[in-house]
Amino acid sequence: MSLETMIREVQARLGVQVDGRAGPETWHAIHARIIGPAGAAAQTEAAPADPRSEQCIATLLPEVRPLARGLIEKAAMHGIAIRVISGTRSYAEQDALYAKGRTAPGEKVTNARGGHSNHNFGIAFDIGIFEGKRYLGDSPKYKAVGALGMDLGLEWGGSWKTIVDQPHYQLRPAWAAGLREREMLAELRRRTAEGVGVFG
Ligand SMILES: [Zn+2]
Repeated sequence: MSLETMIREVQARLGVQVDGRAGPETWHAIHARIIGPAGAAAQTEAAPADPRSEQCIATLLPEVRPLARGLIEKAAMHGIAIRVISGTRSYAEQDALYAKGRTAPGEKVTNARGGHSNHNFGIAFDIGIFEGKRYLGDSPKYKAVGALGMDLGLEWGGSWKTIVDQPHYQLRPAWAAGLREREMLAELRRRTAEGVGVFG
């Protein structure tokens, strides 16, 4: 079979213009079919993850859960085993973390007080990379997974300029596009206090 015939058959199946040349329209249709539309991976139901990940995923908002499962699935397809190891924390839990290395023993683990972390609003999760049962806190694989996460429409902490946070992912609400982190957090606190939906 010639390459042109092959492309024509694929184009016919995708429902795009059949011309035997795989241009942008054809590639967008292929991408949407195989990868799923960016940010709308919610439409492709990923299978439940391992129990530990599912426990964390259950603390996320429903809009974010399929993306976390999708990331686990995508990473697995690339031979990388990841788990969601952290999900949503209450303000009180965040305050307790903030106290570490300040008023409580231990090293500092966060610069965010209660209500000042994206983890307080159901939109953020952290992953761990595993080799067998071994947790890898530091691995070049975090970068590879970051690219997969951004493909899904997630914001990746590894792409941040100020505090690079490679295990971190979050789903930025549409209204927060272009907002500074500080501004987004203020609006998230307001919405939470007033009982307005985060993604509404
Ligand atoms: Zn995080």
